[in-house]
Amino acid sequence: SSHLIPVTDSIASTGLGKEKGVIVVSEAVCQQIMGRADAFVAVQNVFSAMARHTAYNFPVIREAIGHADALYGFKSGFDRDGMVLGLKSGGYWPGNSEKQLTNHQSTIILFDPDTGKLASLIGGNYLTAIRTAASSAVSINHLARKASKTLGIIGAGHQSGYQLQAALDQRSFEKVVAWNNDASKLTKLAKICEERSLPFESVNRETLCAQSDVIITITSAFEALIKQEWIKPGTHIACMGTDTKGKQEVDARLFSNATVFTDELAQSITIGEAQHAVSAELIQSNDIIPIGDVINSTHPGRTSDKEITLFDGTGVGLQDLAVASAAVELAEVQGQANYFNL
Ligand code: NAD
Repeated sequence: SSHLIPVTDSIASTGLGKEKGVIVVSEAVCQQIMGRADAFVAVQNVFSAMARHTAYNFPVIREAIGHADALYGFKSGFDRDGMVLGLKSGGYWPGNSEKQLTNHQSTIILFDPDTGKLASLIGGNYLTAIRTAASSAVSINHLARKASKTLGIIGAGHQSGYQLQAALDQRSFEKVVAWNNDASKLTKLAKICEERSLPFESVNRETLCAQSDVIITITSAFEALIKQEWIKPGTHIACMGTDTKGKQEVDARLFSNATVFTDELAQSITIGEAQHAVSAELIQSNDIIPIGDVINSTHPGRTSDKEITLFDGTGVGLQDLAVASAAVELAEVQGQANYFNL
């Protein structure tokens, strides 16, 4: 905005920490500098810190603002290990697509934890996609069988391509099967597989479950798309789409015969996939294991090849702050950050 005054080049290049001004990292720069491996490390570290209680999320705010049908809110938290304090602000503006804009809009703001001063502004749309993909990838890394060969993807929306790419980094998958309620959208996933010379097949949901060693669900569905009976022993399922009260992707009965993990317990039982199983008393909240405990080796994770593991990835603010902080570091190192004084 007009309130942002560029710092002179001489000041910007001194590298004197807080003297540099506010660091701005644009959407375009985030896409250029931040890869899947960077997002994986950032998200894994912050899940670990959450389980050690050195990082915590603040209550989420989400409001219908009564204008433009918009849902606006923010997710915030503090990571004492990483010294990362801030918030992700944004929401959902359904009319944006007519304006050639993304309906989901996010901006991340980081503050200096020592002073509360504004430290950086980072475009949050691309980072949201890669931090969400990194979350299911972390779950696959720690919980899927090493010999997993077939990956199943349910959903073909904005997040799905990022999910597919990040999952493929984790195991030597030999085939991808996918389902979407609008099958024409699957071409995007087919193209990713073609680029990696991986066989791809569009299948029905029951076949997908019968073939897959790892399944990712990433839809905005409000009913179970997967039946408990369809899931074979040894499967790892990452439920990534349910992030709101009322949404659902899998049969709640699956929670009874799976070992259940999550990013954050409080969200899992209220707005995550586990909300249905908990309210139906199929499981209790203390049956759900923070994935950070597996990362920290305080929980063994998967203990047999027959075990079904389920990860309820609800999406927490600390993931956004973690990838944003990494993006700032990378942008500075690569000379891609802009500096402003307010
Ligand atoms: P999108 O709108 O681009 O895609 C939605 C997908 O769901 C499409 O494939 C659509 O065909 C499918 N779908 C919609 N209604 C369905 C139904 N009733 N049955 C089956 N499929 C249905 O959305 P997106 O950006 O790809 O996000 C997908 C989901 O993930 C959303 O629910 C979103 O809120 C959630 N999300 C979660 C996190 C997280 O951290 N866990 C982060 C971002 C998005």
